[in-house]
Amino acid sequence: MTSQRRRFRRYVCPTSPDPIGLEVDHASGSYIYTADGKAYLDFISGIGVANIGHTNRAVVKAIKAQAEKYLHVMVYGEYIQSPQVDLAARLAQLLPKELSQIYFTNSGTEANEGALKLAKKFTGRKRLISFEGSFHGDTHGACSVTGRAVYRKPFEPLLPGVTFLPFNDLDALKRIDDSVAAVITEPIQGEGGMRIPDDRFLPALRARCNEVGAVLILDEVQTGFGRTGTLFAMEHWGVVPDILTVAKSMGGGMPLGAFISSPATMKTLSVDPPLSHVTTFGGHPVCCAAGLASLNFILEKDLPRRAAVTGEKLQAALRKLARENDAIRAVRGKGLLIGLELSDPERTARFVRQCLKRGLILGWTLHADTVVRIAPPLTLSAMEMRKGLQIIQTALKKSER
Ligand code: PLP
Repeated sequence: MTSQRRRFRRYVCPTSPDPIGLEVDHASGSYIYTADGKAYLDFISGIGVANIGHTNRAVVKAIKAQAEKYLHVMVYGEYIQSPQVDLAARLAQLLPKELSQIYFTNSGTEANEGALKLAKKFTGRKRLISFEGSFHGDTHGACSVTGRAVYRKPFEPLLPGVTFLPFNDLDALKRIDDSVAAVITEPIQGEGGMRIPDDRFLPALRARCNEVGAVLILDEVQTGFGRTGTLFAMEHWGVVPDILTVAKSMGGGMPLGAFISSPATMKTLSVDPPLSHVTTFGGHPVCCAAGLASLNFILEKDLPRRAAVTGEKLQAALRKLARENDAIRAVRGKGLLIGLELSDPERTARFVRQCLKRGLILGWTLHADTVVRIAPPLTLSAMEMRKGLQIIQTALKKSER
């Protein structure tokens, strides 16, 4: 064991009994390079972060330039900081006109916290609806609306008045009534195992929220910024939420998230009382500069389209593998957010280990231990895709036992 590995074990709080434990030296594009000189092809993008590849040069340049000018200067919302203003304005231009004011956060869970608080204050209502199999983050509020009891139980009591409905069930939407402040959902459930709803589900949910005056929050923390083949996944269904939440890939590798709504809705956070929802570091100027460079890169390289095209090819190749290998139960996904469902959890764990041994990083999803997540950088080259597929093919055989 290297001394750094020993120190990692001793001093860094573990979040699982068996961490992957790669000792990172540097990262670039689709690869992570370790201290022992190995190169790993990253097919999970650091879990949904490296959409533009690791250590993207345009982002590094923007970080350096902003770091030379100023770091943190004031808590959020008081001073005019150009990196914040420029990123907010650029995002507003790209989003539907209803989503034109941005509140920056440090993470996805904080984006959802802000969205839930905003919805309660705006409507004056208390109840919240979420969906079974969802994941919205790990702070108390976001955990309260995360749709798997095993992750909520140890932390109860959590927020009262939360109801979980089955995902993708049109009949269940009748249970959303005029006591509901907000309904929160991912457009595609990521941690739930890449569950894509039927085409009618999200439009029906939008219509039901309109009927009863509930705020619709779409959590695009994992699906945003080109991942599913459109800039935001909501575009697949033409559904516009009242509040959109984003994070993960937004900062190009820096911690950055946001909840986004209309000025009329957002105004409630600055009155009765003023400063109803504040943050010290949200919208850090270095993170916003990185976020703008990342967004510009995504647009210049047309990465949403590239994700759609590469995703089609990758899914087609995986479906071919599935026809030849009965350990694969299903292949599903949109763009480069792909789930590979295997026969059982043990086989899935062996398969993931065999991939890692051969230099390919992928992993299962939090709520579905038979679904392997395949979500490489959107910049993935044809050669990298072929290499990943070769490893997947070999690892499937080697994990047969
Ligand atoms: N929402 C979704 C859909 C996520 O996938 C995640 C993280 O995986 C979060 C929220 C929480 O984001 P963060 O880890 O940045 O707090």
